[in-house]
Amino acid sequence: GCLCPDAHVDTWITADRDHCWHPFTRQGEWEKTDPLVLVGGSGVWLTDSKGRKYIDGNASIWTNIHGHGHPVISQAIKDQLDQVAHTSYLGFANPRASELAERLCGFFPDSGLERVFYSDDGSTAVECAVKMAIQYRLQTGEPDRTEFIAFDQCYHGDTMGAASLGGVGAFFERFRKFGFPVQHVRDLDELLAVSPEQIGRTAAVVIEPLVQGVNQIRPWPEGMLRAIRHWCDQHGVHLILDEVMTGFGRTGSMFACQREEVVPDFLCLAKGLTGGYLPLAATLVQAEIYQGFLGGAEKAFYYGHSYTANQLGCAAALANLDLFEQEQTLELLPEKVDLLGRLLNELAERSDLVIEIRQCGLVAGGELRAPDGSAFPVTDRVGETVCLLARDHGLLTRAILDTVVVLPPLSITADEIRHLCAALEAAINDWS
Ligand code: PLP
Repeated sequence: GCLCPDAHVDTWITADRDHCWHPFTRQGEWEKTDPLVLVGGSGVWLTDSKGRKYIDGNASIWTNIHGHGHPVISQAIKDQLDQVAHTSYLGFANPRASELAERLCGFFPDSGLERVFYSDDGSTAVECAVKMAIQYRLQTGEPDRTEFIAFDQCYHGDTMGAASLGGVGAFFERFRKFGFPVQHVRDLDELLAVSPEQIGRTAAVVIEPLVQGVNQIRPWPEGMLRAIRHWCDQHGVHLILDEVMTGFGRTGSMFACQREEVVPDFLCLAKGLTGGYLPLAATLVQAEIYQGFLGGAEKAFYYGHSYTANQLGCAAALANLDLFEQEQTLELLPEKVDLLGRLLNELAERSDLVIEIRQCGLVAGGELRAPDGSAFPVTDRVGETVCLLARDHGLLTRAILDTVVVLPPLSITADEIRHLCAALEAAINDWS
């Protein structure tokens, strides 16, 4: 029979409708629509089951770095598959995890950031940082310092510890009473005004450095990260940086914290760690904190997952790092960042609907408003509709409320950036 994807597409859609449950999705509506079935990818392009091609303007939910189907990453995974796919990290070491830990710590020489704890995704990278931060205080004589300070509208993932930190009410409010105690502050001024009593109860401050992602792409003021680091040092509070979205070149340097020469106590990495090929996360931890876990069974960190330090994932991550050097990913970035910013701002000037472009490296968002400047009613779902229209122009991306997110693979070329911006503009014009 015909093995072309199209021949199967109806059965895939029926099976999806009958049996699948999608993340962050209004399933009642989803069941009544024909989902786009993605079957292939090459570079920044994705192919659907009908053979149509789209620019991956969302880097497959912020994960993809060097493009899809990259021969170097594919080969690294295949080579590892010929050795072994997965072995337990509980009681055993593995070559790829050892190499990767050394390379990750190598980005922060002489900084004390020299231990790597592996997990599976962004949520678990934060989850284990939060639990380590609590346990460290419990076993170093500060049992009352087990609370957290996080930022308004922040997003750190959906497992219980990560969700406790979350500042997006619609996602997290109903679970609040089941979670860890967290105080939310809006900005640096509010952090500086936190009471001495609250400071005395605080284990760590948690922040997405340089730019908040899920909060509709909102860059922080310059220097804020450095000021927070200073405040943490003054008050004996740890700093947990969530670089799940910003890590691996997204904001222009390998890690966002390097832009303000800040070294955190915990650094949470996931998404781009494998270049967007396999689920893997890493939490880098200061040596001094690690020391607090040395001792008998009572000091062990009882946390881990079946697929911790998966060898395929670690092999993909090593290839991802190799590619940064081979393809001069960071060196080529400033021109792309400038071009994207220029084209988006020109688009905003031409369009009555785009009120603001917010950008930090290859993280950008265009906020849509009515021509009189007022916000659209949430129920109008204007951002979502514009993204659906963009598909007809060869662009896949998502909106967060009415901010259309532009977050392509870092390997995107100048021509592809032009195509992306033209497609977005065409979709906005279709809507208006
Ligand atoms: N932290 C940040 C800053 C994120 O943007 C995300 C996901 O968007 C997460 C954590 C959660 O990562 P994951 O979806 O891989 O669990």
